[in-house]
Amino acid sequence: MTGHRETRPAGGGIAGPVLAWYDRHRRSLPWRAPPGAVADPYRVWLSEIMLQQTTVAAVRPYFEAFVGRWPAVADLAAAELDEVLHLWAGLGYYARARNLHRCARMVVADHGGAFPAAEEELRRLPGIGPYTAAAIAAIAFNSKATPVDANVERIMARLFAVDTPLPRARTALRAHAAALTPDARCGDHAQALMDLGATVCTPRGPRCGACPLEDRCLAHRRGLAEQLPNRAPRKERPVRHGVAFWITAPDGAVLLRRRPESGLLGGMVEIPSTEWRTTAWTDREARRAAPVEADWEPVPGEVNHVFTHFRLEMTVLKGAVRDTAGIEGFWSPPERLDGWALPTAMKKIVQLVVANRPAPRC
Ligand code: SF4
Repeated sequence: MTGHRETRPAGGGIAGPVLAWYDRHRRSLPWRAPPGAVADPYRVWLSEIMLQQTTVAAVRPYFEAFVGRWPAVADLAAAELDEVLHLWAGLGYYARARNLHRCARMVVADHGGAFPAAEEELRRLPGIGPYTAAAIAAIAFNSKATPVDANVERIMARLFAVDTPLPRARTALRAHAAALTPDARCGDHAQALMDLGATVCTPRGPRCGACPLEDRCLAHRRGLAEQLPNRAPRKERPVRHGVAFWITAPDGAVLLRRRPESGLLGGMVEIPSTEWRTTAWTDREARRAAPVEADWEPVPGEVNHVFTHFRLEMTVLKGAVRDTAGIEGFWSPPERLDGWALPTAMKKIVQLVVANRPAPRC
């Protein structure tokens, strides 16, 4: 034993084997150009925004719906925000949908309807952070850019056997990825790493035997593949509590409100509720916070919804008003609730109320 440990993967660059693997195993995705063709920046941008925090399988139908409805960035820019939010509903993180729409308008107004090619310019557009800018620059313009997502972080952590926990290891992993980015076929290289991470170097059970980097991967050599990357223990999400008010008019219509443009679920339509706070609401407090006076009746059950920074627990009070005059908000027939851009947390409230509706009498 020499006591010496390798710290670099054998064989230098990885582009050769990675690109050869990609040419044989690339995934066919609706936003991808066929081999050898140039990708449409609009489709690349749209897919990358949708893919943040979500899986390819979840994004596919949304992507198809968006490009079917708005085939080019100018079409999306001309759309009403509410229609965009409506088609987006279910993907979550609605600030992204609002930024998507703002970005489309800015591309049309400031860039003549063509996405800029430079990373720095892309980053000035709403909703485009460093990762997305690098992905668009590489995939749509074949620029030498290095998009580093969780897949690429994992591959780098394993290839170089980096055991510093994430997120602390991030800077080092990005530097490794940047150093391995080739001068040519940059878009294919970026997509190859994404595919490799999604199909071979998976979080659990990596298929090292099918990997083009098997002979140069330090984690594989040391039997550490499955254990890397290390992660700092996650903090528990705090819980917030709220009470929603299901308010019906004499004709059965349900009261809705639109949330303020800025902040969580900005611009989305909601069922009125109390503030979402860290302490639970007593029955008396909730009734006092109600937007109208009514004979409130609790709806059995609870709605749970996980947001990025907290978990929401909501109960529902049901009440009817005799007169709708002067009540802030707008009314929707219950059968038309689907037509509004209701975020998932609100849809869960609708489901809870519908599930508790008394069965019709025969
Ligand atoms: Fe990942 Fe295994 Fe390939 Fe290393 S050899 S990059 S651990 S799949």
